Amino acid sequence: MKAGLSTDHSERLERALLSLDGLSVGDAFGQMMSTCARSARSVVQRGGLSSGPWWHTDDTQMAMAIVEELAAHGAIATDSLAKRFAERFQADPGRGYGKGVRMQLEEISRGADWRQTSAAAFSGRGSKGNGSAMRAAPLGAWFADDLTKVTSQSTQSSIVTHMHHEGIAGSVAISLAAAAAWRSRSSALDEARNAIWDAVLSSNTPPGETLDGIRKAKLVPPSMEPENAARFLGSGFLVTAPDTVPFAIWCAIRHLDNYHEALLSTLEGDGDCDTNCAIVGGIVALRVGREGIPTEWLKSRERLDLQPHLQ
Ligand SMILES: [Mg+2]
Repeated sequence: MKAGLSTDHSERLERALLSLDGLSVGDAFGQMMSTCARSARSVVQRGGLSSGPWWHTDDTQMAMAIVEELAAHGAIATDSLAKRFAERFQADPGRGYGKGVRMQLEEISRGADWRQTSAAAFSGRGSKGNGSAMRAAPLGAWFADDLTKVTSQSTQSSIVTHMHHEGIAGSVAISLAAAAAWRSRSSALDEARNAIWDAVLSSNTPPGETLDGIRKAKLVPPSMEPENAARFLGSGFLVTAPDTVPFAIWCAIRHLDNYHEALLSTLEGDGDCDTNCAIVGGIVALRVGREGIPTEWLKSRERLDLQPHLQ
């Protein structure tokens, strides 16, 4: 083991790869069903799913960069992570990157410093898009044994592209949800649900619209139809963290023990389908394990081009 890496490095990596499987299957499934989100359930019920490969999008590309960064350094080194994001983008740009991130990664590829590109995004406000939340679950999985690091490391991961405090809040909240899902995986369902709400509503999630939205989400009864919950909370049509993260957390908690149902319910909220499903999948997988992800779905997702030693 390299100097500086934690003694439980391999366990952290295993958890992050589990979350990445949940995230990438969710991303690919959500993307494939995005044009018929509200009828996804009937497509699945009549056996109408394509046999694959199901192509993943930018959510998975960026999450893979994070897992590779953590596997290499045991922590997020921002310069190195920016380079990994840019290299993945350059190698495979047609993965549905949002315009703001695409512009940043193009500049970084030409030698710009991420500190400048991230700060300059959206006329100098920084991005509050959902793009750092969409990739955050594996990071929460990695640091699930050290919650003090979840917030600081998720912040480091976010600021490379999403420096606005709402972008950071989205990333932190999703990492905390993933960490809590892993930590409470052996607890009774209600106890685990409460543990996740407590984690994301703790003082670790920066205050603002995203946190306010998560507070609202906790008040939405699980009996509400996802379509109605999405109308109330937003489901990513605006592709911002406040418009995406509260609904995604509500969906993950609502179906914490059932990956298949979690994704179908998430799609009933429509919106940013690949990202919503990536977030939900990355969290729920940590509770249900790899065996909880439908085998056919895992097989249908295209093979992940992780570095060979991580495959
Ligand atoms: Mg995407």
